[in-house]
Amino acid sequence: MANEDEPKNHLLGIRNLSHKTLLQSDALYQYILETSVYPREHECLKELREMTEKHPRNLMATPPDEGQFLSMLIKLINAKNTLEIGVYTGYSLLSTALALPPDGKILALDLNREFYELGLPIIERAGVAHKIDFREGPALPFLDQLLKDENKKEQFDFVFVDADKNNYLNYHKRVIDLVKVGGMIGYDNTLWAGSVAVPPDAPMMDYVKPLRGYVMEFNKYLAQDTRIEICQLPVVDGITLCRRII
Ligand code: SAM
Ligand code: CA
Repeated sequence: MANEDEPKNHLLGIRNLSHKTLLQSDALYQYILETSVYPREHECLKELREMTEKHPRNLMATPPDEGQFLSMLIKLINAKNTLEIGVYTGYSLLSTALALPPDGKILALDLNREFYELGLPIIERAGVAHKIDFREGPALPFLDQLLKDENKKEQFDFVFVDADKNNYLNYHKRVIDLVKVGGMIGYDNTLWAGSVAVPPDAPMMDYVKPLRGYVMEFNKYLAQDTRIEICQLPVVDGITLCRRII
């Protein structure tokens, strides 16, 4: 799984987009990007992506094929009111904001406002900053606060969770009451660099190992949760779509 040609600290300085996918062929991933993704990428998304590529934490960024997928999904389900947990510099946020109708809204949560502010001038230039309500701070207490108000329940058409993987189960237990029945939740990185399907002592990147167990436990939980239908997509690092049914 680990590529010996890569730098030792795998959280820093990743430039090569092949590390954003579980596809076994870098050439095939490059083909997808060059044929179907880059030619269609909004100029502000391109600018945000290129700015983020220079940031030391760029491994965290949503890649453009995933942004394209999110955009399609949001339009297909006619989402208007969305929640995002884990913003970083805002690639998925801008993809969402561009896909939403003019009166669409995104509540965006992240521990770190500095990351968001790197992307904000580009989001403003794209003309969609008015759709975003960014809140800085830990997401769990914020969600707990929302849930205290009955009127805030079942308000979102779509929720995208892309923050601390050790808390995905905690997010799910809250987000399930915030999304509408018939609405969708997307959990990102649920195949966690493929580590969910290898023995615990298999070689894996430094950042992967400590969270692998949480992601595996989370996937098992979703599989038995009767409140949702699920679909595990092997897109990028694995996205699990959950449709709330009760
Ligand atoms: N969706 C982003 C994008 O499109 O580039 C990537 C998000 S990045 C993988 C994860 C983000 O989650 C980081 O910006 C981090 O600050 C944030 N985060 C981590 N723990 C958090 C927490 N407990 N509450 C809120 N945000 C958190
Ligand atoms: Ca992600």
